[in-house]
Amino acid sequence: MNKPIAIIGGGLAGLTLGIGLRRRNVPVTIWEAGQYPRRRVCGEFVSGRGLDVLRRLGLLEEFVGAGAIPARSAKIFFGTARSPLWPLEPPALCLSRFSMDHLLAERFRYQGGDLREKTRWEGDVTGEGVVQANGRRAQTVENGWRWFGLKIHARGVQLEADLEMHGSGQGYLGLCRLPGGEVNVCGLFRGRPGTVGSPVKDLLRGAPGTPLHRRLASAVFEEASYCSVAGLGLQPQRAIEQGGCRLGDALTMIPPVTGNGMSMAFEAAEIALDPIAAYARGEIAWTAACAATARACDTAFRMRLFWARWLQATMFSPVLRGKLGAVVLNSRWLWQLVFTRTR
Ligand SMILES: Cc1cc2nc3c(=O)[nH]c(=O)nc-3n(C[C@H](O)[C@H](O)[C@H](O)COP(=O)(O)OP(=O)(O)OC[C@H]3O[C@@H](n4cnc5c(N)ncnc54)[C@H](O)[C@@H]3O)c2cc1C
Repeated sequence: MNKPIAIIGGGLAGLTLGIGLRRRNVPVTIWEAGQYPRRRVCGEFVSGRGLDVLRRLGLLEEFVGAGAIPARSAKIFFGTARSPLWPLEPPALCLSRFSMDHLLAERFRYQGGDLREKTRWEGDVTGEGVVQANGRRAQTVENGWRWFGLKIHARGVQLEADLEMHGSGQGYLGLCRLPGGEVNVCGLFRGRPGTVGSPVKDLLRGAPGTPLHRRLASAVFEEASYCSVAGLGLQPQRAIEQGGCRLGDALTMIPPVTGNGMSMAFEAAEIALDPIAAYARGEIAWTAACAATARACDTAFRMRLFWARWLQATMFSPVLRGKLGAVVLNSRWLWQLVFTRTR
């Protein structure tokens, strides 16, 4: 008889780990504070090795069955500068979190997992057999900035690429196609504590005169899909320096500009599978399972986090909005370097 595992958080990392463990007959309970389906602030653009994890777990076909759309090209806009159409190789996959989290929750239950919605874990997060997949750690201010995310779905938007990235001094937005003719408009922004900026929803439309503003001029926004999140902490964290078993954003957040956070959640869940299953079978101690998971996550994510931090800083650099911006955005070499190193 396998030992039971409790997972705090039924987001992507928690549900993926839960599904993988159920396939190995490990008893799993997931504690989820919210309920499904639900909206999340997310670019809804899955890119990176996490797609292979989904394939190995037999989940990729389910994503495609739910209407997930491949994204094969990208274009970047900064001020008046714009990049050519860059290929996304390998392609990314776009699906709303409304569908994605619900699909994974259903799959977990189908495989015999115990999913407790609207139930917050209040126990010891570092206890034996307890996995922390409870998402980002709230951080009000980081290096003098408050980071916040916004997202809304829109109709009637014609894109020039499967993924458009629009940068401004205040933040950046990603636009990608979703099933059913919708486009996801999602951005990360920053502000100084105590300062009053533009009304937050205006940030999603872009400043008048910008390509983003023109792109969304005739958009019909779906108010029910609007959501926001604040208190984001984007400093990379090392797993080995933290207690217990942490996966996904609970371990570390990668800057959203990479479109790789969901992939890292899927990858971390797969990394944790073998050590946690070995613990469940009584072959290794819980501390050994946590340490093995932490070491492997650090190895897998270290360089990616390094490059992502550099890219995030560049996105807010005045260089990109000046004349040099056009040179940077037109460099195929730079595009390929950044794309491959951040996933
Ligand atoms: C603006 C923005 C844009 C992004 N765009 C992209 C993108 O385009 N592509 C990409 O790959 N990634 C993107 N990301 C990152 C991506 O959304 C996250 O990396 C991903 O959701 C992490 O998954 P997770 O399972 O770790 O956490 P989550 O999906 O946040 O799940 C954590 C779960 O834990 C639950 N929980 C928390 N505390 C408790 C508790 N005590 N008890 C029970 N349940 C609890 C929460 O309710 C939640 O459901 C973006 C992030 C932001 C902020």
